[in-house]
Amino acid sequence: MHNKSIKELAVGLRSGEFSSMELTQTFLNRIKQHQSLNCFISVTEDLALQAAQRADVKIAKGDASLLTGIPIAQKDIFCTQGVKTSCGSKMLDNFISPYNATVVEKLNSAGAVMLGKLNMDEFAMGSSNETSYYGAVKNPWHTDSVPGGSSGGSAAAVAARLSVCATGTDTGGSIRQPAAHCGITGLKPTYGRVSRYGMIAYASSLDQGGPMARSAEDAAILMQAMAGFDHKDSTSVDMPVPDYQVGLANEIKGLTIGLPKEFFGDGLSNNVATVIEKAIQVYRDMGAIVKEVSMPNLKLAIPAYYVIAPAECSANLSRFDGVRFGYRCAYPQDLTDLYTRSRGEAFGKEVKRRILMGTYALSAGYYDAYYIKAQKIRRLISEDFKKALAEVDVIMGPVTPSTAFGIGEKIGNPIEMYLSDIYTIAINLAGLPAMSIPAGFAEGKPVGLQVIGNYFTEDRLLNIAHKYQQVTDWHQRSPKGFE
Ligand code: GLN
Repeated sequence: MHNKSIKELAVGLRSGEFSSMELTQTFLNRIKQHQSLNCFISVTEDLALQAAQRADVKIAKGDASLLTGIPIAQKDIFCTQGVKTSCGSKMLDNFISPYNATVVEKLNSAGAVMLGKLNMDEFAMGSSNETSYYGAVKNPWHTDSVPGGSSGGSAAAVAARLSVCATGTDTGGSIRQPAAHCGITGLKPTYGRVSRYGMIAYASSLDQGGPMARSAEDAAILMQAMAGFDHKDSTSVDMPVPDYQVGLANEIKGLTIGLPKEFFGDGLSNNVATVIEKAIQVYRDMGAIVKEVSMPNLKLAIPAYYVIAPAECSANLSRFDGVRFGYRCAYPQDLTDLYTRSRGEAFGKEVKRRILMGTYALSAGYYDAYYIKAQKIRRLISEDFKKALAEVDVIMGPVTPSTAFGIGEKIGNPIEMYLSDIYTIAINLAGLPAMSIPAGFAEGKPVGLQVIGNYFTEDRLLNIAHKYQQVTDWHQRSPKGFE
């Protein structure tokens, strides 16, 4: 049961082959059996079984959607009413959300069954899931390695078949990078396509939620339920949501693919490059035309991001003051003591580093030199993409410079950790949509192919991914021990 696609599960549920109760129980058992991966921060067993029961009634009545009765899991950054929403932090370890994020609301009303809340880097800051207050997540393909981050719990849970699919968020690569490291399919939508309401803010001008699933087809179904205008999010875009399933099998003959030469230079490991080249050959064989493009400002993406994202995070995280919600230190002596000790005791090292960097970059005297400069670079990077995407339909390249690194290997060296997002961060700065598609293995670890499209072309990206998945089976492989 746990290897079936959403469509196959929907057929099984309707034909009475199994009920949502049975399906949900199967996944709850698998979650227990594989607890050592540390994918979940909370497992909401009772709520899941109640939701499954309601789904079974709906299915019996014939008023079910494709997602009705399907077990899914939410990254613990999405507020879930009545359920702990920790964002991977000690700061919110005691926070029970009084309301649902729009994404959660939408998936609930589609009838999806939430199994629980997934582990993640603290406040989504990280590339390895090691900054979580709840401990590192293990990569099911290689348990000594990281699953990537910050949506590491989401990627590992889907790869290990502990959930059919999951939600993730991507500020600088956090859907695509863990998807690549765990061999699953992840879509970071155009900024504004998926509501950020109730999604705990890291860097508001970059954050975007999206689907993480085994296949592009499953991702399309999940995306359908997640996307759309929301008046509660002022940056949500009021544009009709296309049907993400109808065009999945469209021909891609004549598709023009741009390969930025900056993506294939120094820093890309040879074994990842080989897998990417083979994947691009598959597209050539399907009739795509490949061209080289250039994006000269790409090298500035990491430095610009590490000014803008911390600046926004320092403002966003100021709300965690020990007064209104979250952690409060014991016996504060006065207000300043309350603020400093609550924040000092509850935020982890990486979060503090970002707050310090961001506060510094925004301070009078440095604002122009750092923040304004970074914003100008952001514009230049967007222009690079605009130019390239005027010449080609999509851009392809690697998601990560290497396969999943070892747990503990980079956590002591922030700069090296930041560099692991070198191919993903620019896309967030430009606000474009991009996917990670399982494209093969290097030394037994998964490698992801990145496909970047123009604004609001998620349907086209899903189509391009689906066509590849019709002629390859990388996305169907399961890690040993999780078959
Ligand atoms: N690794 C990047 C960071 O730490 C991106 C994280 C994300 O996309 N949430 O900021």
